[in-house]
Amino acid sequence: VVPVLTIDGPSGSGKGTISRNVALHLGWHYLDSGALYRATGLAAAWESIDLSDEDAVADCARRASIRFQPMPLTESGADGGEPRVIVNGVDATDDLRTETAGGAASAIAALPAVRAALVDLQKSFRRLPGLVADGRDMGTVIFPDASPKVFLTASADERARRRYKQLKDKGVSVTLNGLLGEILARDERDANRAVAPLVPAADAVVIDTTGLGIEAVVRRVLDLLPA
Ligand code: C5P
Repeated sequence: VVPVLTIDGPSGSGKGTISRNVALHLGWHYLDSGALYRATGLAAAWESIDLSDEDAVADCARRASIRFQPMPLTESGADGGEPRVIVNGVDATDDLRTETAGGAASAIAALPAVRAALVDLQKSFRRLPGLVADGRDMGTVIFPDASPKVFLTASADERARRRYKQLKDKGVSVTLNGLLGEILARDERDANRAVAPLVPAADAVVIDTTGLGIEAVVRRVLDLLPA
């Protein structure tokens, strides 16, 4: 079987950066499942579909073409950053990063038919030599047989600060307080929804990344793999 390492957690917990770096170390594939929900929300908005129309959004998710284009490594061989996301042939990466896209993703992610529509696509990323899957339900729903499973957390303040820096660096205009409010609202909805709520898998290793650097967290995750 193809090995899968899952990294779940709330927004700003560092999942994306940690997952990409772990995948780079291992030479494994990387799945950013949040980008699939973000891309579906955007594709639905492009078609003026009401985001509460469960069947219409699920149909849109099945029809959408969502592709990832990894960024080239830096000259020193380090992670080149988040992959570009191509939605129906259009590079939508910048639109997808906004907290508006995050909010829309969280709204449609609460609809069971939409989650079901994205299951096969997510499973198709499981290819040799292995997969690092980043999201909210990677270890609980999509890859229950994954090992190891990691659940990353960090204080809400730290998560808002990280997102703030990330968006600022990309030239998006946001306020730290506005972002903190949006992140808390999104976490609350993700944690309390009926389907695939954001909870650690029973067999997940929980790592609190507050105050930890990227390298330290990547090391802890890699240490969970059998030698
Ligand atoms: O990880 P990211 O912030 O890009 O995810 C955006 C939203 O997509 C989350 O707030 C969550 O509601 C939803 N999501 C999900 N299941 C996943 C990944 C993301 O419900 N596996």
